[in-house]
Amino acid sequence: MSHRTLPPGSTIGMLGDGQLGRMTALAAARLGYKVHVYAPDAEGSPCAQVSAAVTSARWDDLDALEAFARAVDVVTLEWENVPVAVVEHLGRFAPVHPGGNVLSVAQDRVAEKSFVNNLGIATAPWRAANSAEEVAKAVAEVGPRCILKSNRLGYDGKGQARIEPGIDPADAWAAIRADAGIVEGFVTFACEVSVIVARGLDGAMAAYPAVENRHKNGILDKTLAPARMSAETAAEAERVARRIAEALDLVGVLAVEMFVTPDGAVLVNEMAPRPHNSGHWTMDACHSDQFEQLVRAVCGLPLGSVDRVADAEMENLIGDDVLRWPELLAEPGARLHLYGKAEARPGRKMGHVTRLFPRG
Ligand code: AMP
Repeated sequence: MSHRTLPPGSTIGMLGDGQLGRMTALAAARLGYKVHVYAPDAEGSPCAQVSAAVTSARWDDLDALEAFARAVDVVTLEWENVPVAVVEHLGRFAPVHPGGNVLSVAQDRVAEKSFVNNLGIATAPWRAANSAEEVAKAVAEVGPRCILKSNRLGYDGKGQARIEPGIDPADAWAAIRADAGIVEGFVTFACEVSVIVARGLDGAMAAYPAVENRHKNGILDKTLAPARMSAETAAEAERVARRIAEALDLVGVLAVEMFVTPDGAVLVNEMAPRPHNSGHWTMDACHSDQFEQLVRAVCGLPLGSVDRVADAEMENLIGDDVLRWPELLAEPGARLHLYGKAEARPGRKMGHVTRLFPRG
Protein backbone atom coordinates (compact mmCIF):
# COMPACT_ATOMS: atom_id res chain seq x y z
CA MET A 1 0.00 0.00 0.00
CA SER A 2 1.30 3.43 -0.88
CA HIS A 3 1.45 5.91 2.00
CA ARG A 4 1.75 8.92 -0.21
CA THR A 5 -0.11 12.06 0.76
CA LEU A 6 -2.81 13.20 -1.63
CA PRO A 7 -2.50 16.99 -1.86
CA PRO A 8 -5.43 19.42 -1.88
CA GLY A 9 -6.95 19.44 -5.37
CA SER A 10 -7.15 15.63 -5.38
CA THR A 11 -10.46 13.86 -5.84
CA ILE A 12 -12.01 11.54 -3.27
CA GLY A 13 -14.41 8.92 -4.61
CA MET A 14 -17.44 8.44 -2.35
CA LEU A 15 -19.51 5.24 -2.39
CA GLY A 16 -23.00 6.11 -1.20
CA ASP A 17 -24.93 9.34 -1.70
CA GLY A 18 -26.62 10.24 1.59
CA GLN A 19 -26.10 12.91 4.25
CA LEU A 20 -22.88 11.32 5.54
CA GLY A 21 -21.36 11.64 2.07
CA ARG A 22 -22.70 15.17 1.82
CA MET A 23 -21.09 16.30 5.07
CA THR A 24 -17.82 14.57 4.08
CA ALA A 25 -17.90 16.40 0.73
CA LEU A 26 -18.40 19.71 2.53
CA ALA A 27 -15.44 18.98 4.82
CA ALA A 28 -13.37 17.92 1.81
CA ALA A 29 -14.22 21.15 -0.03
CA ARG A 30 -13.09 23.20 2.97
CA LEU A 31 -9.64 21.61 2.63
CA GLY A 32 -9.57 22.06 -1.15
CA TYR A 33 -10.45 18.48 -2.15
CA LYS A 34 -13.15 17.40 -4.60
CA VAL A 35 -15.64 14.57 -4.17
CA HIS A 36 -16.94 12.28 -6.92
CA VAL A 37 -19.99 10.36 -5.71
CA TYR A 38 -20.99 6.89 -6.97
CA ALA A 39 -24.33 5.27 -6.14
CA PRO A 40 -27.20 3.68 -8.05
CA ASP A 41 -29.46 6.75 -7.71
CA ALA A 42 -26.83 9.38 -7.04
CA GLU A 43 -28.25 12.07 -9.35
CA GLY A 44 -29.71 14.91 -7.24
CA SER A 45 -28.92 13.10 -3.96
CA PRO A 46 -27.83 14.91 -0.77
CA CYS A 47 -24.19 14.12 -1.58
CA ALA A 48 -24.42 14.85 -5.32
CA GLN A 49 -25.80 18.33 -4.58
CA VAL A 50 -22.42 19.32 -3.10
CA SER A 51 -20.06 17.10 -5.13
CA ALA A 52 -17.84 17.97 -8.08
CA ALA A 53 -18.79 14.86 -10.07
CA VAL A 54 -21.54 12.24 -9.99
CA THR A 55 -21.80 8.69 -11.34
CA SER A 56 -25.26 7.14 -11.13
CA ALA A 57 -24.73 3.45 -11.86
CA ARG A 58 -25.50 0.05 -10.41
CA TRP A 59 -23.19 -1.65 -7.92
CA ASP A 60 -22.62 -4.46 -10.44
CA ASP A 61 -21.71 -2.19 -13.39
CA LEU A 62 -18.04 -3.16 -13.64
CA ASP A 63 -17.27 -0.71 -16.44
CA ALA A 64 -18.80 2.23 -14.57
CA LEU A 65 -16.93 1.20 -11.42
CA GLU A 66 -13.62 1.07 -13.30
CA ALA A 67 -14.18 4.46 -14.95
CA PHE A 68 -15.06 5.93 -11.55
CA ALA A 69 -11.99 4.47 -9.85
CA ARG A 70 -9.74 5.74 -12.65
CA ALA A 71 -11.22 9.23 -12.27
CA VAL A 72 -10.47 9.54 -8.53
CA ASP A 73 -7.33 9.44 -6.37
CA VAL A 74 -8.76 7.44 -3.47
CA VAL A 75 -12.11 5.79 -2.72
CA THR A 76 -13.99 5.86 0.58
CA LEU A 77 -17.57 5.17 1.58
CA GLU A 78 -20.43 6.45 3.68
CA TRP A 79 -22.42 3.17 3.64
CA GLU A 80 -20.85 0.01 5.03
CA ASN A 81 -23.08 -2.33 3.02
CA VAL A 82 -21.39 -1.61 -0.29
CA PRO A 83 -20.80 -5.13 -1.66
CA VAL A 84 -17.30 -6.36 -0.83
CA ALA A 85 -16.87 -7.42 -4.48
CA VAL A 86 -17.35 -3.77 -5.51
CA VAL A 87 -14.61 -2.60 -3.18
CA GLU A 88 -12.32 -5.39 -4.41
CA HIS A 89 -12.93 -4.46 -8.06
CA LEU A 90 -12.31 -0.76 -7.36
CA GLY A 91 -9.14 -1.68 -5.48
CA ARG A 92 -7.54 -2.80 -8.76
CA PHE A 93 -7.57 0.81 -9.98
CA ALA A 94 -7.43 3.03 -6.86
CA PRO A 95 -6.75 2.72 -3.13
CA VAL A 96 -9.96 2.04 -1.16
CA HIS A 97 -10.28 2.91 2.54
CA PRO A 98 -11.74 1.25 4.53
CA GLY A 99 -11.05 -2.00 2.67
CA GLY A 100 -13.03 -5.17 2.02
CA ASN A 101 -11.61 -6.86 5.14
CA VAL A 102 -13.26 -4.20 7.31
CA LEU A 103 -16.54 -4.31 5.39
CA SER A 104 -16.87 -8.07 5.60
CA VAL A 105 -16.74 -7.79 9.41
CA ALA A 106 -19.05 -4.78 9.66
CA GLN A 107 -21.71 -6.12 7.24
CA ASP A 108 -22.41 -9.29 9.16
CA ARG A 109 -23.48 -9.29 12.80
CA VAL A 110 -22.13 -12.79 13.46
CA ALA A 111 -18.73 -11.88 11.98
CA GLU A 112 -18.77 -8.61 13.91
CA LYS A 113 -19.58 -10.17 17.28
CA SER A 114 -17.05 -12.99 16.72
CA PHE A 115 -14.35 -10.47 15.81
CA VAL A 116 -15.02 -8.40 18.91
CA ASN A 117 -15.22 -11.40 21.26
CA ASN A 118 -11.94 -12.77 19.82
CA LEU A 119 -10.29 -9.55 20.99
CA GLY A 120 -11.49 -10.32 24.52
CA ILE A 121 -14.13 -7.57 24.33
CA ALA A 122 -17.57 -8.32 25.74
CA THR A 123 -20.92 -8.26 23.90
CA ALA A 124 -24.38 -9.42 24.91
CA PRO A 125 -24.54 -13.23 24.83
CA TRP A 126 -25.47 -14.29 21.29
CA ARG A 127 -26.08 -17.25 18.97
CA ALA A 128 -26.34 -17.43 15.20
CA ALA A 129 -29.78 -18.76 14.17
CA ASN A 130 -30.82 -19.52 10.61
CA SER A 131 -34.23 -21.18 11.02
CA ALA A 132 -37.22 -21.08 13.39
CA GLU A 133 -35.85 -24.20 15.14
CA GLU A 134 -32.44 -22.63 15.61
CA VAL A 135 -34.03 -19.47 17.03
CA ALA A 136 -35.91 -21.58 19.62
CA LYS A 137 -32.68 -23.40 20.53
CA ALA A 138 -30.78 -20.10 20.80
CA VAL A 139 -33.46 -18.61 23.08
CA ALA A 140 -33.12 -21.64 25.36
CA GLU A 141 -29.36 -20.97 25.56
CA VAL A 142 -29.26 -17.17 25.68
CA GLY A 143 -32.24 -16.58 27.97
CA PRO A 144 -35.96 -15.92 27.64
CA ARG A 145 -35.63 -12.17 27.03
CA CYS A 146 -33.73 -11.51 23.84
CA ILE A 147 -33.70 -9.79 20.46
CA LEU A 148 -33.63 -11.56 17.12
CA LYS A 149 -31.87 -9.49 14.46
CA SER A 150 -31.30 -10.10 10.77
CA ASN A 151 -27.64 -10.88 10.32
CA ARG A 152 -27.18 -8.43 7.47
CA LEU A 153 -28.58 -5.09 6.30
CA GLY A 154 -30.30 -4.05 9.53
CA TYR A 155 -30.26 -0.42 10.62
CA ASP A 156 -32.26 1.92 12.84
CA GLY A 157 -33.90 -1.09 14.53
CA LYS A 158 -35.16 -2.54 11.22
CA GLY A 159 -35.07 -6.32 10.82
CA GLN A 160 -35.41 -6.89 14.57
CA ALA A 161 -37.94 -8.69 16.76
CA ARG A 162 -38.14 -8.86 20.57
CA ILE A 163 -38.60 -12.30 22.10
CA GLU A 164 -39.91 -12.77 25.64
CA PRO A 165 -42.02 -15.35 27.45
CA GLY A 166 -45.32 -15.65 25.55
CA ILE A 167 -43.80 -14.79 22.17
CA ASP A 168 -43.27 -17.73 19.83
CA PRO A 169 -39.69 -17.72 18.45
CA ALA A 170 -41.16 -18.95 15.13
CA ASP A 171 -43.25 -15.76 14.85
CA ALA A 172 -40.15 -13.65 15.54
CA TRP A 173 -38.25 -15.58 12.85
CA ALA A 174 -41.09 -14.98 10.33
CA ALA A 175 -41.23 -11.29 11.28
CA ILE A 176 -37.61 -10.46 10.46
CA ARG A 177 -37.86 -11.93 6.92
CA ALA A 178 -34.19 -12.90 6.75
CA ASP A 179 -32.17 -15.93 5.65
CA ALA A 180 -29.76 -15.57 8.54
CA GLY A 181 -30.20 -14.14 11.99
CA ILE A 182 -28.60 -13.66 15.37
CA VAL A 183 -30.26 -13.99 18.77
CA GLU A 184 -28.87 -11.58 21.37
CA GLY A 185 -29.60 -11.58 25.07
CA PHE A 186 -31.53 -8.45 26.07
CA VAL A 187 -29.25 -6.02 27.91
CA THR A 188 -30.76 -3.91 30.65
CA PHE A 189 -28.46 -1.01 30.12
CA ALA A 190 -27.90 2.17 32.14
CA CYS A 191 -27.16 4.03 28.91
CA GLU A 192 -26.05 3.60 25.32
CA VAL A 193 -22.80 5.24 24.29
CA SER A 194 -20.61 5.45 21.23
CA VAL A 195 -17.01 6.32 20.51
CA ILE A 196 -15.78 7.53 17.13
CA VAL A 197 -12.15 6.90 16.36
CA ALA A 198 -10.20 8.03 13.32
CA ARG A 199 -7.16 6.06 12.15
CA GLY A 200 -4.68 7.27 9.56
CA LEU A 201 -2.63 5.50 6.91
CA ASP A 202 0.31 5.57 9.34
CA GLY A 203 -1.73 3.90 12.12
CA ALA A 204 -2.08 7.09 14.19
CA MET A 205 -5.42 7.30 16.00
CA ALA A 206 -7.60 10.05 17.44
CA ALA A 207 -10.77 9.31 19.43
CA TYR A 208 -13.59 11.66 20.35
CA PRO A 209 -14.93 11.35 23.89
CA ALA A 210 -17.68 8.79 24.51
CA VAL A 211 -21.12 10.26 23.93
CA GLU A 212 -24.54 9.16 25.18
CA ASN A 213 -27.16 8.20 22.61
CA ARG A 214 -30.90 8.22 23.23
CA HIS A 215 -33.15 6.44 20.74
CA LYS A 216 -36.83 6.88 19.86
CA ASN A 217 -38.61 4.18 17.83
CA GLY A 218 -35.25 2.49 17.18
CA ILE A 219 -33.78 5.67 15.61
CA LEU A 220 -31.19 7.92 17.20
CA ASP A 221 -33.02 10.91 18.69
CA LYS A 222 -30.38 12.74 20.73
CA THR A 223 -26.65 12.59 21.37
CA LEU A 224 -25.25 14.16 24.54
CA ALA A 225 -21.55 14.98 24.36
CA PRO A 226 -19.72 14.00 26.40
CA ALA A 227 -21.56 11.08 28.00
CA ARG A 228 -22.30 11.63 31.67
CA MET A 229 -20.55 8.66 33.20
CA SER A 230 -17.50 7.83 35.28
CA ALA A 231 -14.08 8.63 33.87
CA GLU A 232 -13.16 4.93 34.16
CA THR A 233 -16.13 3.78 32.05
CA ALA A 234 -15.50 6.52 29.47
CA ALA A 235 -11.85 5.46 29.26
CA GLU A 236 -12.85 1.82 28.85
CA ALA A 237 -15.27 2.71 26.01
CA GLU A 238 -12.49 4.62 24.27
CA ARG A 239 -10.02 1.77 24.78
CA VAL A 240 -12.49 -0.68 23.21
CA ALA A 241 -13.02 1.52 20.14
CA ARG A 242 -9.28 2.03 19.61
CA ARG A 243 -8.58 -1.68 20.04
CA ILE A 244 -11.16 -2.59 17.38
CA ALA A 245 -9.92 0.04 14.91
CA GLU A 246 -6.38 -1.21 15.33
CA ALA A 247 -7.32 -4.88 15.01
CA LEU A 248 -9.26 -4.12 11.82
CA ASP A 249 -6.24 -2.18 10.49
CA LEU A 250 -8.83 0.46 9.66
CA VAL A 251 -7.99 3.54 7.64
CA GLY A 252 -10.81 6.05 8.02
CA VAL A 253 -13.37 6.56 10.75
CA LEU A 254 -15.01 3.91 12.94
CA ALA A 255 -18.04 4.32 15.20
CA VAL A 256 -18.48 1.73 17.93
CA GLU A 257 -21.86 1.61 19.69
CA MET A 258 -21.85 0.16 23.18
CA PHE A 259 -24.16 -0.55 26.11
CA VAL A 260 -23.10 0.50 29.60
CA THR A 261 -24.60 -1.74 32.27
CA PRO A 262 -25.69 -0.42 35.70
CA ASP A 263 -22.41 -1.71 37.21
CA GLY A 264 -20.32 0.12 34.60
CA ALA A 265 -19.44 -2.77 32.26
CA VAL A 266 -19.08 -1.91 28.57
CA LEU A 267 -20.62 -4.29 25.98
CA VAL A 268 -20.19 -3.69 22.24
CA ASN A 269 -23.47 -3.60 20.30
CA GLU A 270 -22.34 -2.81 16.77
CA MET A 271 -19.89 -0.81 14.71
CA ALA A 272 -19.85 1.19 11.50
CA PRO A 273 -16.61 1.94 9.59
CA ARG A 274 -17.71 5.42 8.48
CA PRO A 275 -18.83 8.73 9.97
CA HIS A 276 -21.83 8.20 12.27
CA ASN A 277 -24.93 10.07 13.31
CA SER A 278 -23.66 10.14 16.90
CA GLY A 279 -20.63 12.14 15.71
CA HIS A 280 -22.50 15.02 14.08
CA TRP A 281 -21.99 17.17 17.19
CA THR A 282 -18.27 17.30 16.36
CA MET A 283 -19.06 19.65 13.42
CA ASP A 284 -19.96 22.42 15.83
CA ALA A 285 -18.04 21.56 18.99
CA CYS A 286 -14.61 20.19 17.98
CA HIS A 287 -11.49 21.57 16.33
CA SER A 288 -11.70 18.89 13.60
CA ASP A 289 -14.97 17.07 13.01
CA GLN A 290 -15.50 13.42 12.10
CA PHE A 291 -15.94 14.20 8.40
CA GLU A 292 -12.69 16.14 8.19
CA GLN A 293 -10.96 13.24 9.99
CA LEU A 294 -12.17 10.87 7.27
CA VAL A 295 -10.77 13.16 4.59
CA ARG A 296 -7.49 13.48 6.47
CA ALA A 297 -7.21 9.73 7.06
CA VAL A 298 -7.86 8.58 3.49
CA CYS A 299 -5.70 11.33 1.96
CA GLY A 300 -2.73 10.46 4.16
CA LEU A 301 -2.81 13.77 6.04
CA PRO A 302 -2.10 14.03 9.77
CA LEU A 303 -5.27 13.58 11.82
CA GLY A 304 -6.81 16.73 13.30
CA SER A 305 -7.35 17.61 16.93
CA VAL A 306 -10.39 16.00 18.56
CA ASP A 307 -10.40 18.62 21.34
CA ARG A 308 -13.82 20.09 21.96
CA VAL A 309 -14.44 23.74 22.59
CA ALA A 310 -17.88 23.10 24.12
CA ASP A 311 -20.19 20.39 25.37
CA ALA A 312 -23.01 19.66 22.96
CA GLU A 313 -26.43 18.17 22.47
CA MET A 314 -27.39 16.99 18.97
CA GLU A 315 -31.02 16.42 18.07
CA ASN A 316 -32.03 14.59 14.89
CA LEU A 317 -34.77 16.01 12.70
CA ILE A 318 -36.71 12.95 11.55
CA GLY A 319 -39.53 13.18 8.99
CA ASP A 320 -41.83 16.11 9.75
CA ASP A 321 -39.50 17.41 12.50
CA VAL A 322 -37.81 19.29 9.68
CA LEU A 323 -40.85 21.55 9.40
CA ARG A 324 -39.53 23.23 12.56
CA TRP A 325 -36.70 24.80 10.53
CA PRO A 326 -37.99 28.40 10.82
CA GLU A 327 -38.12 28.27 14.63
CA LEU A 328 -34.75 26.48 14.83
CA LEU A 329 -33.18 29.10 12.57
CA ALA A 330 -34.54 31.81 14.86
CA GLU A 331 -33.20 30.13 18.01
CA PRO A 332 -30.01 31.90 19.09
CA GLY A 333 -27.07 29.49 19.16
CA ALA A 334 -28.90 26.55 17.59
CA ARG A 335 -26.76 25.22 14.72
CA LEU A 336 -29.05 23.87 12.01
CA HIS A 337 -27.89 21.34 9.39
CA LEU A 338 -30.30 20.26 6.64
CA TYR A 339 -29.53 17.48 4.19
CA GLY A 340 -31.28 18.73 1.05
CA LYS A 341 -33.82 15.87 0.92
CA ALA A 342 -36.96 16.85 -0.96
CA GLU A 343 -39.43 14.52 0.71
CA ALA A 344 -39.91 14.29 4.51
CA ARG A 345 -40.99 10.65 4.74
CA PRO A 346 -41.66 9.23 8.25
CA GLY A 347 -38.46 7.88 9.81
CA ARG A 348 -36.25 9.67 7.27
CA LYS A 349 -33.28 11.64 8.62
CA MET A 350 -33.82 15.15 7.21
CA GLY A 351 -31.32 17.16 9.25
CA HIS A 352 -30.06 17.80 12.76
CA VAL A 353 -29.59 20.65 15.17
CA THR A 354 -26.74 21.08 17.64
CA ARG A 355 -26.79 23.21 20.76
CA LEU A 356 -23.56 24.08 22.57
CA PHE A 357 -22.97 24.51 26.29
CA PRO A 358 -19.93 25.62 28.27
CA ARG A 359 -17.61 22.67 28.90
CA GLY A 360 -18.52 20.85 32.09
P1 AMP B 1 -29.03 -2.02 16.59
O1 AMP B 1 -29.66 -1.94 15.23
O2 AMP B 1 -28.36 -3.31 16.87
O3 AMP B 1 -28.17 -0.83 16.89
O4 AMP B 1 -30.26 -1.88 17.63
C1 AMP B 1 -31.05 -0.73 17.69
C2 AMP B 1 -31.38 -0.39 19.13
O5 AMP B 1 -32.10 -1.48 19.74
C3 AMP B 1 -30.15 -0.20 20.01
O6 AMP B 1 -29.62 1.09 19.90
C4 AMP B 1 -30.72 -0.49 21.39
O7 AMP B 1 -31.46 0.62 21.87
C5 AMP B 1 -31.69 -1.63 21.11
N1 AMP B 1 -30.99 -2.91 21.28
C6 AMP B 1 -30.31 -3.58 20.32
N2 AMP B 1 -29.76 -4.72 20.80
C7 AMP B 1 -30.10 -4.79 22.10
C8 AMP B 1 -29.84 -5.73 23.16
N3 AMP B 1 -29.13 -6.86 22.94
N4 AMP B 1 -30.34 -5.46 24.38
C9 AMP B 1 -31.09 -4.33 24.61
N5 AMP B 1 -31.38 -3.42 23.66
C10 AMP B 1 -30.90 -3.63 22.41
